[in-house]
Amino acid sequence: MKKWLILFVFFPFSIKAQTQLKKLKRNERKEKIEIVENLKSHVSYLASDQLEGRRTGTKGEILAANYLVEEYRKIGLLPGNNGKYLQEFEYYEGKSYTKKSYFKINGETLTAEVDYFPLAYSANKTINSNTAIALKEVDNPWFLDLKDILEENKNNPHFDVNEVVMKESEKQFKKGANSLILFNSSSIVDNISFSKFDPSATLSRPVIYMPFKSLKKYFKDDITSYDIKLNITIENSSRTGRNIVGFINNNATHTIILGAHYDHLGFGEDKNALDTANDIHNGADDNASGSAALLEIARLLKTSKLSNHNYLIIHFSGEELGLIGSKYWLEHPTINISKNYMINMDMVGRYDTSHKLTIGGYGTSPTWGSVLPKLSSPLITKIDSSGTGPSDHASFYRKDIPVLFFFTGSHSDYHKASDDFDKINYEGMADVVRLIYNIIDATNSIQKLEFTKTKEPEMGRSTRFTVSLGVIPDYGFTGEGVRIDGVSQGKLAERIGLAAGDILIQLGDYKFTDVMSYMKALSKFKKGDATQLIIKRKEETLHFDISF
Ligand SMILES: [Zn+2]
Repeated sequence: MKKWLILFVFFPFSIKAQTQLKKLKRNERKEKIEIVENLKSHVSYLASDQLEGRRTGTKGEILAANYLVEEYRKIGLLPGNNGKYLQEFEYYEGKSYTKKSYFKINGETLTAEVDYFPLAYSANKTINSNTAIALKEVDNPWFLDLKDILEENKNNPHFDVNEVVMKESEKQFKKGANSLILFNSSSIVDNISFSKFDPSATLSRPVIYMPFKSLKKYFKDDITSYDIKLNITIENSSRTGRNIVGFINNNATHTIILGAHYDHLGFGEDKNALDTANDIHNGADDNASGSAALLEIARLLKTSKLSNHNYLIIHFSGEELGLIGSKYWLEHPTINISKNYMINMDMVGRYDTSHKLTIGGYGTSPTWGSVLPKLSSPLITKIDSSGTGPSDHASFYRKDIPVLFFFTGSHSDYHKASDDFDKINYEGMADVVRLIYNIIDATNSIQKLEFTKTKEPEMGRSTRFTVSLGVIPDYGFTGEGVRIDGVSQGKLAERIGLAAGDILIQLGDYKFTDVMSYMKALSKFKKGDATQLIIKRKEETLHFDISF
């Protein structure tokens, strides 16, 4: 075909194509600028001091919820909870005593949790007395050194210190004590603590525990009398959290769920902060970033042609307390839908080429492997096949729903008051928004994704541990101990027959209350060590002799 003819015929097409491409690029750039601006305004508000770190159940959370509802309305999302956007849930915080309780000796006020604490099954009462450690006068506080009880039972595998203390306390009350002050002068670890989720029945009179160091500090000897003023007030406290639910109804058969948690740490009151700052933890990256990205994706979907699915948009609360909001929604769904898959965004604001973008849940559907590699994105990504992990997608994965989890990596401001607005990479966030939108676009023609279970990352296999049991912890469990959601194949836990629902409570001498204290206990053991694992299975307490 003559060269000039080719030019004559094709040149106009290539010009047209180039103009269109330029126009497309121009549109994309314009759209990206708009997305970046919106992301900035969402994050700057959600991470502002005014919202005081958006702790579940606080004014800050309510301000954030109101803001999100307002944005849902602007986007045109339908209320996702029977005409409402909010889904409230109760979060039982367990018992607490620090608000009203006090303990004074000769007029000096002792510090709760440091110099003393009541046992969770202590009675509430006010005691005014003048007594000495060695004195056992009726209707006065008596002192009990746990030394003998601990020494008698140091080789007793079935020894439960709380059980013995409860029995001993009632015995002393019968003899005339109006309260009991425990201490431990021995070097044996007694594992006594104020466990806020302890379900034991309340005793008839107060029981408090004084660390031996404090006892020595306030009582110079056993015979001198001291003026004692004690008030124990233990209360059950709970908080109300708020999930925000919006819906895009395309009258389709299946619904895609998009989620991000918007709660954070407040002033660090829940002891889940990594700094000691009694300061506002603004949570710009964790997770104002994911919350903002979710708003932008909803806005794009609402005006898009991607109508083969409905979209359920959920901003969860209670995530920092153990995935409470996402679990609650799954137990109490606000809308009757056929769930296709779930995409979760948690900390998508600190993308850089070293952190990369992690895409988790890659193994939860074969579709991900065929769709994601085909998508182009300026972001450098790394994949993680597991469907679990410490964020809300894990709640959905456990219900056999395919998930994807977007995360730009941890950093030195994680869970600190320094996780602020000005450290966020908004361009990177806009690229995450674009990538997620493109994934939804690429799966628009697939009715319902197939679900595949993934191999679970093992607990304790991090650098600090040399041994592990091979259990999969339930991060959402708020009771005493570590509830497990399953065991890893071929590991110790599987060999001794542990199963989902079991609650691990003690390893050797180390009693644990939560995942953190379990990890601490685990780090005390090394390969070859033999010890005993104690668990609760339903009402039963089971003992396993194990060796690592
Ligand atoms: Zn988070």
